[in-house]
Amino acid sequence: MTATVELMDYEEVIERFNPVLGLEVHVELNTHTKMFCGCANTFGGEPNTQVCPVCLGLPGALPVLNATGVESAIRIGLALNCEIAEWCRFARKNYFYPDMPKNFQTSQYDEPIAFNGYLDVTLDDGEVVRVEIERAHMEEDTGKSLHVGGATGRIHGAEHSLLDYNRAGVPLIEIVTKTIEGTGARAPEVARAYVSTLRDLLKALDVSDVRMDQGSLRCDANVSLMAKDATEFGTRTETKNVNSLRSVERAVRHEMTRQAAILVQGGSILQETRHFEEASGTTRAGRRKETSEDYRYFPEPDLVPIAPSREWVEELRQTLPEPPAERRKRVQAEWQLSDLEMRDLVNAGAIDLITATVEAGAPSGEARSWWVSYLSQQANNQGVELGALAISPAQVAKVIALVADGSLTNKLAREVVDGVLAGEGEPEQVVEQRGLKVVSDDSALYAAIDEALAAQPDVADKIRDGKVAAAGAIVGAVMKATKGQADAKRVRELILERCGA
Ligand code: ADP
Ligand code: MG
Ligand code: ZN
Repeated sequence: MTATVELMDYEEVIERFNPVLGLEVHVELNTHTKMFCGCANTFGGEPNTQVCPVCLGLPGALPVLNATGVESAIRIGLALNCEIAEWCRFARKNYFYPDMPKNFQTSQYDEPIAFNGYLDVTLDDGEVVRVEIERAHMEEDTGKSLHVGGATGRIHGAEHSLLDYNRAGVPLIEIVTKTIEGTGARAPEVARAYVSTLRDLLKALDVSDVRMDQGSLRCDANVSLMAKDATEFGTRTETKNVNSLRSVERAVRHEMTRQAAILVQGGSILQETRHFEEASGTTRAGRRKETSEDYRYFPEPDLVPIAPSREWVEELRQTLPEPPAERRKRVQAEWQLSDLEMRDLVNAGAIDLITATVEAGAPSGEARSWWVSYLSQQANNQGVELGALAISPAQVAKVIALVADGSLTNKLAREVVDGVLAGEGEPEQVVEQRGLKVVSDDSALYAAIDEALAAQPDVADKIRDGKVAAAGAIVGAVMKATKGQADAKRVRELILERCGA
């Protein structure tokens, strides 16, 4: 069934066409409860355990708006330099699909809460592209369907479908850009950089956990091409739910090469949704795009209009975080890092973790070193992101403090970290339970030193003759005897003192 898709060489696409992009990002808010009912808004629960008559769309159930959801929507709008509506409403978007038992989705249509903004996006080489924001509106997520039986996991060929309504009614903000033009060959990179910048901003706002892999941040990429001499936009396709930054870039690039090949042969692009296939890096046709008439939008009669007072909006403006791009510049200057070092930290997702470790009292050099070396290795071994490690910045700061006050050597500190990662409790508990304290009791060290000196009399003589470099062998023996739990520097001092050197 899969016809071979012809693709045009990317260079040639750029010579002949100007790409036009439009990005729609859906973000699930991290409110405690859903948008219109009191059900818990958490990910990964047992299917259909977080449901009630409202989010199941049972007859007679009435929605109640989540105030925190509105607050987050306004803060997102402000952070995106948008105007905030003085008055706006929800609308019913009518369609039938089993994952939405109400038969309509509560959304906003021509009265979004935020509109007319922009986000400045910095590309890898430092160029800044301003992406204009059309609107950010509130809506609710749908349930999830699982198609069982078929080979592909798609509804076609499935034997039956299972539905989980835990996600139905989860607060969503949809952020839609105006058309992005003039990016030429960099269109795929601009798309990725925009989603990445937006993700960082939403994270800094603390309105969502922005996990693309879990679907709490999802991007639909609209792409069309204009021949170089054209005066009107071409027909767009909308590639749905692209779930990683890399996929955003690949999906845009693939659509450009696919559409170009069709256009030069005199074919036309269908306005349709498409699905990105991770494995092949290609897109396949979804459904023909509905028009807004198909949705029969009308104002939601069960919810009152929202009229955020200007005082409230200004109060919320005061809660905006330092924009991530500016914060990075400041942090880079404070920590005195090169552009390259800084980019590594950003790519490792380590900036927030290091900052939090410093805020918990650790010196920035040590905080950085723990996160980028030992902890990064552990994250790699476990195949998880740095932030997903089972250790908090405060715990890392505690370990650093224990090294600083001489309670732990670096080697012991790594063992303590291993213990925390293994769920053995707080650093102090791990020290206690694993018996990892540095042997700082000098009399215990003297005993081990005397034993080592007696075992290697020739080395002892050398040290007594002033050949202090020879002390290394004795230090080694003492460290072995104390199972690495002595402070090597202190041991060396005591050996030299003992030998009168
Ligand atoms: P829909 O309801 O069809 O998803 P939206 O208005 O939500 O439409 O989003 C459409 C997105 O596509 C917007 O970002 C818009 O700027 C963009 N867009 C519109 N026309 C084009 C086009 N010809 N080529 C590329 N993007 C487009
Ligand atoms: Mg849309
Ligand atoms: Zn509910």
